[in-house]
Formats: sequence, C-alpha cells, structure tokens
Amino acid sequence: MTPEEFRRFGHQVIDWVADYRATVEARPVQPRIEPGELRAKLPSEPPLEPEAFAEVLADVEKLILPALAHWQHPRFFGYFPSNGELASVLGDYLSTGLGALGLNWQAAPALTELEEVVTDWMRRMTGLADGWQGVIQDTASSCTLVALISARERASDFDLARGGFQSGKKPLVVYCSEQAHSSVEKAALLAGFGRAFVRKIEVDQHFAMLPAALSVAIESDVAQGRVPCAIVATTGTTTTTALDPLEPIAALAGKHKLWLHVDAAMAGSAMILPECRWMWQGMEGADSLVINPHKWLGVAFDCSLYFVRDPEHLVRVMSTNPSYLRTGVDGRVTNFRDWGIPLGRRFRALKLWFLIREQGVSGLQRRLRRDLENAQWLAGEVRKSESWRVLAPVPLQTVCVRHEPPGLEGEALDRHTLAWCESINRSGAAWLTPAVLDGRWMVRVSIGALATEKKHVEELWSALQGAAKTS
Ligand SMILES: *Cc1c(COP(=O)(O)O)cnc(C)c1O
Repeated sequence: MTPEEFRRFGHQVIDWVADYRATVEARPVQPRIEPGELRAKLPSEPPLEPEAFAEVLADVEKLILPALAHWQHPRFFGYFPSNGELASVLGDYLSTGLGALGLNWQAAPALTELEEVVTDWMRRMTGLADGWQGVIQDTASSCTLVALISARERASDFDLARGGFQSGKKPLVVYCSEQAHSSVEKAALLAGFGRAFVRKIEVDQHFAMLPAALSVAIESDVAQGRVPCAIVATTGTTTTTALDPLEPIAALAGKHKLWLHVDAAMAGSAMILPECRWMWQGMEGADSLVINPHKWLGVAFDCSLYFVRDPEHLVRVMSTNPSYLRTGVDGRVTNFRDWGIPLGRRFRALKLWFLIREQGVSGLQRRLRRDLENAQWLAGEVRKSESWRVLAPVPLQTVCVRHEPPGLEGEALDRHTLAWCESINRSGAAWLTPAVLDGRWMVRVSIGALATEKKHVEELWSALQGAAKTS
C-alpha cells in the first residue's frame, strides 16, 4: 500500500470507526451467532493474488461486525469496562503508524522517555509516593507473573542464576485470597511455585482477605519448614470489587519479609479520585502494584502499568545482559526490556499520553464519579425492591444482584438467576456476566463504559425487573 492509498483508506477507516462509535447504541450488545458461523463464511485458503482493499473493508462491515460483541456499547455491563477513549485510539494508531520498536533507549529514545513521564504522571494521579517507578506492560497477568518471579528470586537469593527450581530447596509459598483473580494462580504456577504451595486465604463477609487467617497460614508454613515468599492482595476483586485490607496485610509482609504485590487491575483507575484512596491505605508497604488503565480509565487496550519500589531488583531478575550485576541502570537511560518479559515494546505511552492530555485529570475524574454515582443509584433501587438483593458492598462501579422470589432456593434459584440473565443477554438490550458468589449464581452489573449515562442504567434496571418477572 502506498502512502497515498493509505491516506485514502485510512480516512475511510477513521470515518468508519467514528460512525461505529456514534451509532453503536442501535446495535444488539451481543451478536446472535453460533460457534463456527464466521469461520464457515471465510475462505480456508489465503488469496494468492492481491485483492482490492475496498473489498477487504467491505468484508469488515459484512462479516466481522455482525460477529462481534460491542464493548463500547452504552448498555455493556459485562466483565469490566474496557474503554477505548477515541483520543487514546488515535495514540494507538499513531504508535502503529510510526512502527518504532523500543528494544533499548537508543532504538527509540522518545518511546522510553515518554513512558517514564506518563507512568510518573499516573503515579502522581493515583497518589503514590515518590519511590514508585512504573513501566507499561501488556496485561495484568504479565505484571503479576513478573511480580511473583521477582518475589521468588528475592526469597531464593537469585536461584535462577544457579539451579533454579531444580536445586531442591525448601518450598516457597504464595498467598492470595480465595477471591483473587485467576491470573494470580496462573502466575504462581508459571513461576514454578506449584499448586500445592499457593494458599487461598479465607475472606470475611465482605469478600476481603482475613489478615488473621493469613497470619495463621504463614505461621503454619514456617512451622513446617516451608518459606513464605509472596502475598498478592487485591484492591477491587473481579467478582465483587472487594478490597483486601492492605494495612494489616502489609504489616504481616513486613514482619515475615514477604513480597507484597497488589493487584489493582480494575480498581486502580479509581485512585485518581482522592475520595477513593482509603481503599488502598497501606499501599506504601507493598513491593509491586498493577493497574490497568485499559479498563475503566479509558486507554485503548492494551496498557497495563506495573509499578515497583525497587527497579534495581527488577532489572537484576529480568535482565538477560551479563551486566545484571551492576547497581541499577547505568544512571543515564532506562532500558525497559529489562523491566519485564518481552524484548520488543510498542510505543504504548502515546495512547496514555493522548488520553490524559485530551481529557485532563478533571475530565477523567468526572467520568469515574458519574459511574460511581450510577452504581450507588442502582444499588439503592435494588435494595428498595422486594425480592431483590444487593449481595456485596458497592465501593466502586460493580453491583452484585440477585432476584430472590419467596420459595425459590438452592439450584432452583440458580436456574432462575441464569434464566433471567440469559434472556436479557439474548435480547441484545444489555450484556451482563453472571458469577458464583458463596456457591450460588448472581449477576454482576459492571457499570462504566464510556457511553453509559444514568438513563442506560435506568433502562437496565427496568430490563432486569421485566426479565426476572417473566423468567
Ligand atoms: C482484569 C483483571 C485481571 C486480569 O487482567 P489482564 O490485564 O487481562 O491480564 C487481574 N486482576 C484483576 C483484579 C482484574 O480486574
């Protein structure tokens, strides 16, 4: 494609995305599509000869779009908001168009330095102390893996440079709550801890980790000759946005010299609101932290921030360069390849930079406050209604609800819950993702898509009541 053709088709693509965003509300949130339906419409052989690009674009409209769920839809209440503010979308396009790769500082100096600046902006925006330094990774899953590898290497005095997990030392143990995200267990397994040494600590009635139970688990491992290594605490769990109490957890980590990693993938965005900062009181006792600006904050996927207290340790673990014995980076530049797993990095900082500048911190705060208010409004309506329950505290934008008509219990109640949720999803009017809490199905209403205004939440509440009545 020549630059001139790119100009022509590029304009078309931008217009297409603008139209899509402007009209997405008219579409069903979820496609009515069966597994394999799209694959059956696509040729199994790639084209031997070049095709007209206009035809490729036409197929996006005809084939791809009808086979997509619309995450930017104002009545998307599933999983979590994965917002792509249009300003950040442009940053993402620009990054791709520049095609620069940050293998090290020299390879793209602006890529590294803008990343240093915007991660520090985010540090300030979320009220973290000076000592934290950040890097952009692809996802929270990668950040948590890096955190647990760092923890393992601190506890084993850099065993990876010797026998690694083959050297048959005392087993290292990881602790998280039973409500922790599945990525925590996955990271622990990939980092070599083994499932037998991942402790899922009991939670209280608000689904937050019980520090007393954590303490007992640590003491018991010590008594049995194992080495407690790391705690992963969550600020804003996936099911209910529960908040593990960081202060007592950090105190235990300090006492037993454990690595403390905080998974604030979802809730970290809320820390740009000073009124939410109580939620991570005790954060300053942590070693590492992950926040996903590609969720609620509005950066086009993917953009996950990994903050650490001790970048020197991170570099020593992640560097493949024999110079890992130096005391930190050489003092003049940062080589982010030594801050995580991949060598090559995209210019992701651009989309975060575009978002923050175009919205301003106050614009971002306004939108998040709107969503918090909408969640409180919905929780209030649900609580006031007969046979409806809010099942967990609502500190953020997720409301966990269940319709409990008299006489319905156990599996019959589960069937009712899944039936009314499915009927809403099938109707295309909204999209919700059910989840299990305390052994029973319930429905999470995750508010916070960019386009979701109060009226959409009101419409959802009517739809919930209607569906529950007829299911
Ligand atoms: C979304 C989420 C994750 C996983 O995020 P990825 O970036 O998709 O890996 C992990 N933990 C929590 C609490 C989350 O909300």
